[in-house]
Amino acid sequence: MNEIGKPVIGLEVHVELKTKSKMFCGCPADHFAKKPNTQTCPVCLGLPGALPVPNQQAIEWCVMLGKALNCETLLFSKFDRKNYFYPDLPKGYQISQYDQPFCQKGWIEVNGKKIGITRVHMEEDTGKLIHEGGSTLVDFNRSGVPLVEIVTDPDFDNAKDVKAYLQKLQQIVRYLEISDGDLEKGQMRLEPNISITGTKKPYKVEVKNINSFSFVDKAINYELKRQQEIIEKGETPVQETRGWEETAGITKTQRIKEEAQDYRYFPEPDIPPIRWTNEQLRKIESQIPELPDAKLIRFKKEYQLMEYDAEILTRDTLMANYFEETVKVGVKENISPKQIANYIINRKVNITEVLPAKVIGNILQTKNIVQIDEKELSKVIEEILKSNEKAVSDFRKGKENAIMFLVGQVMRQFKQKVDASVIKASLLAKLEKWQTK
Ligand code: ZN
Ligand code: MN
Repeated sequence: MNEIGKPVIGLEVHVELKTKSKMFCGCPADHFAKKPNTQTCPVCLGLPGALPVPNQQAIEWCVMLGKALNCETLLFSKFDRKNYFYPDLPKGYQISQYDQPFCQKGWIEVNGKKIGITRVHMEEDTGKLIHEGGSTLVDFNRSGVPLVEIVTDPDFDNAKDVKAYLQKLQQIVRYLEISDGDLEKGQMRLEPNISITGTKKPYKVEVKNINSFSFVDKAINYELKRQQEIIEKGETPVQETRGWEETAGITKTQRIKEEAQDYRYFPEPDIPPIRWTNEQLRKIESQIPELPDAKLIRFKKEYQLMEYDAEILTRDTLMANYFEETVKVGVKENISPKQIANYIINRKVNITEVLPAKVIGNILQTKNIVQIDEKELSKVIEEILKSNEKAVSDFRKGKENAIMFLVGQVMRQFKQKVDASVIKASLLAKLEKWQTK
């Protein structure tokens, strides 16, 4: 009866930083697949009297990410305690940032739309609960690992843009080399909050437990449909946190959402507030490398590449650097960046194994060889097969050199030099279906 409203989606993303040590102590931050509780100390175990010492590298990386997302950096900022009880949180609070985050009010362009970044703040990760044989164990190796939380404005209205945003965010943290952003390892954790406009009471549903980009679409679209159905009945969906259950393909109630005041935020008394000088901020900014969007635009312009090719070549810095190195080698041989891009993309060059000079060598070798039209080649092959029944039956009997004879026959039909391996491949494919009349 009511008109279905407009989807409103915002995102909270947690990114683990790959610093050497944890956020407030000297324990190693790399906790993946380590023996439980071997990387802990009084600070990250929350023992009484232990004092936190902030990790400068982590804070600078947080600011760097904020700047990469076009945020303003607050010259005065502080840490706060977020109080709640859970067995993976030994202190009974998480050191986070409340009203004065390091960065805020940024934006990022996704599919041609501007998405607002509400804030980028620094906090610490919790421990991990392991459910095993009917009991629950706690591993504190992850406790205190630096986490950056990136919150967007509720600017999304569909799952496709959300996915594109997340991929871009992952690409940016990798470009900055501050995190590997691996979802499966929990280095990047996504929590969309989803609602639909036009209900009597405002509400918001947060969805957790989405640990792959391919689940993002499914989880959001499922949730939108679920909420729409409730609204169509004239009701308002419950404000709550739900979990995505991949095997069933549904979201399920986890808990009714706490309000911010339930966390009883207050300033962290053990860490002095942080003040930045403009000089310090300029220094951090100067460490930001060329970012994906800028690189894409430059590649298109400088190397005359199509959007599609430039997009593939700038997906990560390893590939981008490899391409540019190959271009440098190619200049001397008069090979255009476009040819190099085609070669790398079409041949799926393994950039960790093939040196740029080798790519150029290969291009030079094939340069004199004329590309043949597939239809034309197919026609020629058919004629050759028809007029060489003996060679065809020899090949069928297992005479290996019969195929090379046929390749030679085909090649003679072309005036220019053509690639024998291409002809051989087409011949073999054709022979599979060839019926001798
Ligand atoms: Zn520690
Ligand atoms: Mn958080």
